[in-house]
Amino acid sequence: MAAAGVASAQKVRGQFAVPGTEVLLPYTDVHGAEDGPTLLLSGGVHGGEYPGIAAAIEVARRLDPASLRGRVIVLHLTNPPAFWAKMQYLNPLDGKNLNRCFPGDPHGSASERMAAKVIEVLMQADYWIDLHGGDIHEELVPFTIFSDQGPAAVRQTAEAMARAYGIPRLICSASVSGGSYAAAAELGVPAILPEAGQLGQLDAEAQETHVQGVLNVLRLLGFLPERPVAPPAPQVYTRLIWRRASQRGLWRRRVHAGERVGRGDVAGELRDVYGDLLEEVPAPESGEVLFTASALAIEVDDPLLAVGAP
Ligand SMILES: [Zn+2]
Repeated sequence: MAAAGVASAQKVRGQFAVPGTEVLLPYTDVHGAEDGPTLLLSGGVHGGEYPGIAAAIEVARRLDPASLRGRVIVLHLTNPPAFWAKMQYLNPLDGKNLNRCFPGDPHGSASERMAAKVIEVLMQADYWIDLHGGDIHEELVPFTIFSDQGPAAVRQTAEAMARAYGIPRLICSASVSGGSYAAAAELGVPAILPEAGQLGQLDAEAQETHVQGVLNVLRLLGFLPERPVAPPAPQVYTRLIWRRASQRGLWRRRVHAGERVGRGDVAGELRDVYGDLLEEVPAPESGEVLFTASALAIEVDDPLLAVGAP
């Protein structure tokens, strides 16, 4: 249903102000010629995940209101302070990870207020695709996560969206507290979090993975007239197990994203600044390594790697 005061079949560009901050979230609001559901597409919740940001901008430019049913709200940059600071994981305004702040708090810190604004926009929507990838110092193979929480119908729709996205690795996982797709599931909105791209690079193939994934989900949900492409059957994981650093150190990986490991295999080591060994870091589970930290400098609690397991 078209919003009051907005004629159908048009694109509206603007910026959502986040109350209590200086932050402006640039958006494109695409109203289709025909009434239908609303989908929220967000890029750049993490400011260094460039292919997702570029894909959100590309989709906003490419969507033709004349052939769209329903409405697509695109947040081009969901975390502008992190993007302009070239800062991974965190928002420089408060040092928080925006993707641990959902559903947010309109009276909280900057990230909490930004999260609350995004959820306010989400409340106009029936679906959410939140584009991510490996951050500036993360090596990553693509995968799509959706929550195993929430009502069955919401979970089933999220799984159908995740499969249609076309990345051949799916993670149906207990939600990370404060994460976008977890908050959405609790609010009854089917959501997926596709990850493609890595290492602070604007990789054209990863960008296209996101663009084609979004367009195919829009076909699946009836926003676009074409039939969805049937992607190949994915590898499905039910657990994404992270290993975080127990201490500060210089990190050397022995495994890479996309490789298989056994539980307890040495995945890397932390050394001190003189080169003496602090600890060998074991793989937390048997499975496929989905991302590794590429940075030499590792602080306590930084993620070192994550393994996808059945
Ligand atoms: Zn991310």
